[in-house]
Amino acid sequence: MNEPAGVWEYVRGFENLSLCDWPGRATCIIFLGGCNLRCPTCHNHQLAWDMQSLPVIDHAHIKSYLRDRAGWLDGVTVTGGEPTQIHGVGELLYEIKRFGLPVKVDTNGMRPDIVKDLLHCKLADVFAVDVKGPYGKYPALTGQAVSEIAARHNLERIFEMAASLPDAFYFRTTRVPGLTDGDMEIAQSYLPPEFELKIQQYVPPRRTPEHAQPDNETRRQIGDVVI
Ligand code: SF4
Repeated sequence: MNEPAGVWEYVRGFENLSLCDWPGRATCIIFLGGCNLRCPTCHNHQLAWDMQSLPVIDHAHIKSYLRDRAGWLDGVTVTGGEPTQIHGVGELLYEIKRFGLPVKVDTNGMRPDIVKDLLHCKLADVFAVDVKGPYGKYPALTGQAVSEIAARHNLERIFEMAASLPDAFYFRTTRVPGLTDGDMEIAQSYLPPEFELKIQQYVPPRRTPEHAQPDNETRRQIGDVVI
């Protein structure tokens, strides 16, 4: 009889090997479905908002892969969607950690309590946190899912943790349409002094549902020039 999948049912994608996701490391990537935000520029919108349309990846396959390849992988990335919004994500990370590999979790930083718990329980080694832009642009950047106040509150808590555990965090932003050089400087200024914000260029998603690109009103709110 197969083991029940439980939290593994959220696993809707698996990449055997990546040489660029975690700089300097050969990792595999586990993709978890579901997200608490609605960023109009989302690259993983199907995974984030419609995970039921994607098949569950057999957890036995992933565990067997980790068992066989743990010797030559340098780590595991757990990404989304948004891993920290999944009830029971700690259980999944615990099972991954049993293979003896370091774990990086990608997060939008809006659940600092969960980040704190996962760090405290040593279920994740590193968090890659998205800083989407100036706090004032969070409502437009997240599809109105996050207010300016909530963005500031949550990210400031993340930055506090990073200041005391600098090896456990890195920060990045994707320069989506509408973000300016000035916005990048503002986002960088939020970080504790020893951190550098890694800027990723935005590549429009290949398959574009109507909400995958910012509409003109959203672009205006972000500050883009709408012609
Ligand atoms: S936080 Fe990431 S996964 Fe979630 S909607 Fe925004 S871009 Fe997509």
